[in-house]
Amino acid sequence: MAKAPYLGRLKLHWCIHDNFPVLDSPTCPKCQNSTIKFNVTPPGDIRPAFERDLARIRSTINSTFGEGLGQLLLPHDNIYILNRTPGIDLSEEIIANGHIYGRFIYNVFKERFEFHPRAVGAQLLLHFAAQKNIPLKHTINMHEDSVPFILEGKSILAPGIAEFDSSIENEDICIVRNDNRYLTLAISHVDGSTIKKMVETGYGKVAKNLKNQRSSLSIPEFLSTIKKQSWENVYEVNKTHMDNIVEESTRFIQKTIQKYPTNAIAVAYSGGKDSLCTLLLVFHAIGPKFHIFFADTGLELPETIENTHEVAKLLGMQEHVHIRNAYDKFWDLIDHFGPPGRDYRFCCHGLKAQRINEIIDDVAPGEKVLSFLGQRRYESFSRAAEERVYVNSFIPQQIAAAPIKNWNAMEVWLYILHYPHIVENKRVKVPVNEMYYHEFERIGCYLCPASDLATLKGLREVHPEMMKRWDNWLENYAVKQHLPRDYIKYGLWRFKHLDTQWKNSFEKQGIEYGSFGFETPSLIQFNTNQTDTLITGKINLPVHINELENLLQALPGETFNSNSVLRYISRQLEFQLDKSGDFSIHPQTTEKTISKFLNQILALLLKTENCANCGVCEDICPQNIIRIKKMVTHYIPVMVPSVESPCIHCLKCISHCPLHQKIKEN
Ligand code: SF4
Ligand code: SF4
Ligand SMILES: [Zn+2]
Repeated sequence: MAKAPYLGRLKLHWCIHDNFPVLDSPTCPKCQNSTIKFNVTPPGDIRPAFERDLARIRSTINSTFGEGLGQLLLPHDNIYILNRTPGIDLSEEIIANGHIYGRFIYNVFKERFEFHPRAVGAQLLLHFAAQKNIPLKHTINMHEDSVPFILEGKSILAPGIAEFDSSIENEDICIVRNDNRYLTLAISHVDGSTIKKMVETGYGKVAKNLKNQRSSLSIPEFLSTIKKQSWENVYEVNKTHMDNIVEESTRFIQKTIQKYPTNAIAVAYSGGKDSLCTLLLVFHAIGPKFHIFFADTGLELPETIENTHEVAKLLGMQEHVHIRNAYDKFWDLIDHFGPPGRDYRFCCHGLKAQRINEIIDDVAPGEKVLSFLGQRRYESFSRAAEERVYVNSFIPQQIAAAPIKNWNAMEVWLYILHYPHIVENKRVKVPVNEMYYHEFERIGCYLCPASDLATLKGLREVHPEMMKRWDNWLENYAVKQHLPRDYIKYGLWRFKHLDTQWKNSFEKQGIEYGSFGFETPSLIQFNTNQTDTLITGKINLPVHINELENLLQALPGETFNSNSVLRYISRQLEFQLDKSGDFSIHPQTTEKTISKFLNQILALLLKTENCANCGVCEDICPQNIIRIKKMVTHYIPVMVPSVESPCIHCLKCISHCPLHQKIKEN
């Protein structure tokens, strides 16, 4: 498992006496007993398990360990909590009755969901299987005389095995037992047919003992003390905590409005739980005196659009909703930029931020807007590091504020589903995006590169027609780029750079990832005879001299254009480029500055060749001196500075352009 990041406090405690989760308190508000601090894996963004989540988990347990065991382990009349843990794909701890029963994961290599029990979960499975006479799978039964060795933590060796499940595959988690006595959990080194041979020959190491999963818990005693709980009870016992965080966020909303007086207050709604929670908080704090912004990227799910209208209707705010749609723009952009990635979010900028900019131009032209967003620290490092009030440079007119920055997902859900929301003197039930009931934990564009493969697999079932368009595009892209099938199988389009977790996983599986398209050919070749005073080489891109001359105005030096040779002179260097791409630099500066400069030149050349008309540079320029010109077959950005509006060389038109971001780390 990857190293777990601490993004915020781990708030989960448990009252053993009452058997419910207590948030952020060392004593139980109901019985006053001490609670135990629950060490879930960080970041600790715990959430309630919904019935559809549980249905999928139960059916996975049934198919892995034995029909009927899913329901016995996780019966309907109780509450369960899920905690997302780091991993290359879906990986969630299942918390029940004060214990972590196991982990539910999507195995991207075997393309299936798996349940990896922890000691308590495994003991319960063994107990129920024996009680209900259910043949237990994924189990190894040891001879009596090998028990002491197993309990000492020794490996599972073939001579000690009395029985085993022949469906065991390499790297499966197996329950190791002596008849009905639980001993430990183990990871198999080999599959069932090899175990058979090893047992026959009486030689071989079958599985690794997961020593820390031995347990002395008495299951009958544990089961006799379980009190079944409901989410209503959980809310009631955590009411004071919830009132406190609601009050804190409400005060934050009111204070921020006082501190940043504007004519326009808004909530940026996305159809997800976090923005819904924020919308409700702002509604209760100031009444319906704000706009609801909805940036439709053209990749929204129909359930999301429907939910936006339902929520606005519930609050009597239909007139306050501003929707701007990017329609098919995504499909134009990917033809220029390639697929979006977790580390290449041109879609957020070119689709979402652009639409918000358009809405702001409509509702408050030339003014600042104070927007409340549903961003939370538990989501990512970058979210955790952001200030609670900040300006996103892609939406310069917006002051963004995050009232629920410190909330975890469980608090968000308790607030949405159980807090008494009063509208026009009546308690109302808040409509939640239908997709949450289809095991979707994050609601966003259906092609969000942040999605895991488990989510994309689910989407293919719920919205096959939408995913088909994407799958077709991706197939064509892979063919054009000569990418192997594994590029699609592992959803590698979601990354511009392959991270260490993925590299390690591929290496462990013996999968060669060199041909997956992460090594891009360099756009610059340097000649071998470099000196301290002269660097020469060739840029492997078409050079449009006149267009480049225009865009070079963004840089602070002077440009000269004669006979198809461009010269640029600044305090730090002299640069010369001809139509064939040959260039020379006389540097009076560091290597780092030269490399940054050459990257800027590449970005400018790409702009003249492959502009996608995303509109980001036009929008972002503080001097408003960029126009996107439509040519016969393509677009190009053109700078039109004047004496009144000169270029201030802020370089935002370069740094924010997706073409620059694509080559940034080349
Ligand atoms: S964004 Fe900055 S560098 Fe680019 S044209 Fe505008 S003022 Fe000049
Ligand atoms: S040049 Fe401007 S419009 Fe064209 S791709 Fe870059 S940011 Fe988008
Ligand atoms: Zn209690």
